Amino acid sequence: MNKRRILLVEDEQDIAELVALHLDDLCDEFVVAQDGYEGMRLATSGTWDLTILDLRLPGPDGLEICRAIRRTRPYQPILMLTAKSAELDRVLGLETGADDYLTKPFSVLELVARVRAIFRRIENMQQAPLPEADSKEKVSVGNLSIDPGRREVLQDSKKIELTAREFDLLNYFARNPGRVFRRADLLDNVWGYGHEGYEHTVNSHINRLRAKIESNPSQPEIIVTVWGVGYKFAGHDRITAMDSAT
Ligand code: CA
Repeated sequence: MNKRRILLVEDEQDIAELVALHLDDLCDEFVVAQDGYEGMRLATSGTWDLTILDLRLPGPDGLEICRAIRRTRPYQPILMLTAKSAELDRVLGLETGADDYLTKPFSVLELVARVRAIFRRIENMQQAPLPEADSKEKVSVGNLSIDPGRREVLQDSKKIELTAREFDLLNYFARNPGRVFRRADLLDNVWGYGHEGYEHTVNSHINRLRAKIESNPSQPEIIVTVWGVGYKFAGHDRITAMDSAT
């Protein structure tokens, strides 16, 4: 495993100490920034395997820092800490691109589980480009072409910018066309953990994905809602080629 570096931007010192205590074993370097200014500087200048952002900070807030990271690092995992569930819509909104969130007060064990899942995903990503790996094979479905080796999506030959989680979600759907997934299935298979009450994060990522790939996101034709159940990929109606063996 490569050296793991985690940046935590959190102005509440007791929370920062608690998180540091529990995540220290999971990484080689754990750095805390105590306000938004320091957080912004470290988040955008250093290389981090994970950035954990408190939403409310003195100086630039968690959303501003998140947006700044996304401008140059679309794949860098970002976990947001929010004080109220009422803030979730902003956190998970189209414009930010956080991969995951926890609502305060959160369980430290839950945080550790999330961080482990994120690191597992990074390892899988790093292993994916090995020769003969099945997951490296491109898949072309409808007007989408998905290349896991390069983590690139083309729609009608135009490159679509996706965050790591949006990419994983689309890739997962496209490899299982027509199959209906419950939100809990998607949490298990794409996020790497099941957690009751976090289905909202699936909805938000689906909405973000739709805004990027659907010609009319309010009437989606590629990732469609199956009422009362979940979602399915319907973009295969216009399959042009499919070379996935999996
Ligand atoms: Ca705070």
